Amino acid sequence: MYYGGIEAGGTKFICAVSDEQQNIVAKTSIPTTTPAETLQATFDFFDQYEISAMGIGSFGPIGINEDKDNYGYILATPKPGWSEFDFLGQMKEKYDIPFVWTTDVNAAAYGELKKGAAQGKNSCIYLTVGTGIGGGVVIDGKIFSGINHPEMGHVHVKRHPDDEYEGKCPYHKDCLEGLAAGPSLEARTGIKGQDLPEDHPIWEIQAYYIAQALMSYVLTLAPERIILGGGVMNQDHLLMKIRQSFVEQVAGYVETPPVSEYIVRWGLPNESGITGCLLLAEDAIKTK
Ligand code: ADP
Ligand code: ZN
Repeated sequence: MYYGGIEAGGTKFICAVSDEQQNIVAKTSIPTTTPAETLQATFDFFDQYEISAMGIGSFGPIGINEDKDNYGYILATPKPGWSEFDFLGQMKEKYDIPFVWTTDVNAAAYGELKKGAAQGKNSCIYLTVGTGIGGGVVIDGKIFSGINHPEMGHVHVKRHPDDEYEGKCPYHKDCLEGLAAGPSLEARTGIKGQDLPEDHPIWEIQAYYIAQALMSYVLTLAPERIILGGGVMNQDHLLMKIRQSFVEQVAGYVETPPVSEYIVRWGLPNESGITGCLLLAEDAIKTK
């Protein structure tokens, strides 16, 4: 028996097949172009295997409420052709097997909980800081969803006193994503995040915003571990600055585990999402 997983990103689809022991037996990366072209390449890959269940972690926002007509759809996205696309519906039409449908960051949080940096825990948050900022939540060993999936990248943050940047979020301007996603670094300094020197003052501001958001998540959800991923987190010094700022801003109000164990980098670099998708496929069989 084989499980299928799709980490459907705005730039590329990572598709993988695993055996029953969750060993990956095949994997491919497909550029995200038009829905028709991308799905055809996805089908061509999975058609080579007898897949028993599939887990999909998609870029969003997505419809996750089974009572709504837009369940399984990709909702309002700037990605041409993908807005209001019935992704899950197309997959189900092609393959008559159980599916699990969630966001890419939820799948990553689940992968990290089961096999990565939050192993042995019952709850965690996964936050990616890249082109955008997105968060996934696992509570009591299960991906959390309510009326929608959480949109943790768009929480509002108090301004850093030295920051006058208006913010880049097309909806809110100066929400967390608008002030702290990768493109905001370049918009403020004219230098891409990866080329900014470690001692640039922007990093303190960056750390302040991310730490502030993490504090809000801790105050509302009290997760057992917080995992950070995404391109911007390739800056090792940034993690230290975030931890330090987190401790300062929490100011002793909440007791957390030692911050170096509590706020950590991903345990499955670049693999959290696809790992989670394959595990979700297995769950779909077991709970069927
Ligand atoms: P995506 O979010 O599109 O999946 P990434 O997670 O790689 O992709 O995020 C891309 C963003 O991260 C860009 O804004 C890029 O400038 C920034 N970035 C990539 N690498 C680094 C780095 N080493 N340091 C800081 N910023 C980086
Ligand atoms: Zn926003």
